[in-house]
Amino acid sequence: MRLLLVEDDPMIGESVRRGLRREGFAVDWVADAESAGPALEAGTYDLLLLDLGLPRKSGLDLLRELRAGGAGIPVLVLTARDAVGDRVLGLDSGADDYLVKPFDLDELGARVRALLRRQTGRVQPEIHHGGLVLNPATHQARLRGQDLVLSAREFALLVALLERPGAVLSRARLEERLYGWGKEVESNAVEVHVHNLRRKLGTSFIRTVRGVGYMVPKSP
Ligand code: CA
Repeated sequence: MRLLLVEDDPMIGESVRRGLRREGFAVDWVADAESAGPALEAGTYDLLLLDLGLPRKSGLDLLRELRAGGAGIPVLVLTARDAVGDRVLGLDSGADDYLVKPFDLDELGARVRALLRRQTGRVQPEIHHGGLVLNPATHQARLRGQDLVLSAREFALLVALLERPGAVLSRARLEERLYGWGKEVESNAVEVHVHNLRRKLGTSFIRTVRGVGYMVPKSP
């Protein structure tokens, strides 16, 4: 899951980025609304974390522009404690949820997961497919009742593929989902993760669609 964070406070930005990376998200961070537009156009993001109090152009203006342009990306707004009016305006302008500063990083992670879950139309917190159960909150994986040890990237890759079983994701798309900016990505990183996952899940769990990418079949 790849997130874009728009936050001008360096301390909050750094701690949010670090906290969410620890939870297995790829996080890119920009410090103003002017940089967020091009980043959103260029990148493939699953969720936007948006501070409202930004220099020059406000987060609220950015949000209104995004929604006016038809962008459906889930938006979680970060606001100051006393700014009740901002929170109301934020929600009415198309935000999906908000958090009041200072917030707890565990709560932020839980809200992000809830929004992503809703986005994919899933109501259960766990992802079930065949004999596999993934819990994005605890990062636990079980295969036919047995605990399965997965790296953070292997876990994220599986979650990405299981969002839409039957749909093919290209290697480039998967790389975008797994790695934020400034991360050195080995050219065969995705293949290596897929190889390791097949070793753990069985060779037919993830299919290669030659020349296109990877997919998990709808019915295993
Ligand atoms: Ca701010």
